[in-house]
Amino acid sequence: MTSAAEPTDEFDTIERLFRPLAQGAPEARGLLDDVAVIPSRPGQDLVVTKDAMVEGVHFLAEDPLDLVARKLLRVNLSDLAAKGADPYGYLLSISWSKRCDGLAREAFAAGLREDQAHYGIKLFGGDTTSTPGPLTASITALGWTPTGRTVARAGAKPGDVLMVSGAIGDGWLGLQAAKGELAHLEEARIEALARRYRLPEPRTVLARLVRDHASASADVSDGLVADAGHLAEAGKVGIEIALDHLPLSRAAKAWLEHRVDPAASLLDLATGGDDYEIVCAVRPDRVEALAKGAERAGVPFTAIGRVVAGEGVQVMFEGQPVEVRHAGWRHK
Ligand code: ADP
Ligand code: MG
Repeated sequence: MTSAAEPTDEFDTIERLFRPLAQGAPEARGLLDDVAVIPSRPGQDLVVTKDAMVEGVHFLAEDPLDLVARKLLRVNLSDLAAKGADPYGYLLSISWSKRCDGLAREAFAAGLREDQAHYGIKLFGGDTTSTPGPLTASITALGWTPTGRTVARAGAKPGDVLMVSGAIGDGWLGLQAAKGELAHLEEARIEALARRYRLPEPRTVLARLVRDHASASADVSDGLVADAGHLAEAGKVGIEIALDHLPLSRAAKAWLEHRVDPAASLLDLATGGDDYEIVCAVRPDRVEALAKGAERAGVPFTAIGRVVAGEGVQVMFEGQPVEVRHAGWRHK
């Protein structure tokens, strides 16, 4: 007899926890073959992305594993959305750590099940191991775009408007909230921010609009300034960001009210990571269509700056340049 809390072996894990997540996806072959098989789709491009998460680096050791699993899936879906791709399926590689008993593993699979239903995707395959080190997992996500229509980082032109989806800064504030380091805020706001950090919202509903209207686009994961910098570099252009126009959540606005230096604090929000929004360059005649479409989809898309000749990102506050020391998060 094994109890639910006891870890099970690799094959039992695959059969009990992962095979149900592949149900209904013929590509996965019931997770009984050596490979998944994806029939080609004439007229479409298969868009592929991979993100890994390590305990103690991308999530906290005490975070519940259903949320960890969902975040892992969501950060990958965020990359697909930023490229204008519709989500299709994913592969999962997981190295269970010592803390992952049977219940923890079930929680992980339950989190995936919930988000699979929400985003309409299925598990196609993967690999399962265990490690004496920290829990490590990665997902390879697959999506489709019409041939040649995947939105690149390159493509921004001087005169384009810089736009960003949703709100900026909640990921950075949320990490502090999750660590209990955020004071001077109502408990409900702190909880909302921590939840936002643990469970970002990939902008899948905006993928089609980005594909139709953006000239260049990137996912905001390292920090808005750093990710806008990717657009600048790839497009060989300069980008100006006006901190005054940063879209903020109510919680972030409440936090800002307690700060003495608004420019420095807005810069913190614009350089902290984990927002999982979309930053894109948009030709002026496309701005309205993108903003209106996004509004209909229930997510704001806000103009925060412009593309200019030159290079790099210039951050402005009330018309004055602001010095940026760290554009965003970077692994050593
Ligand atoms: P291999 O010996 O080639 O590594 P495995 O025995 O690891 O094959 O995998 C058997 C099947 O189970 C394959 O279809 C594989 O994709 C699937 N699989 C293994 N681990 C996972 C996982 N974490 N998520 C989804 N599918 C998995
Ligand atoms: Mg294997």
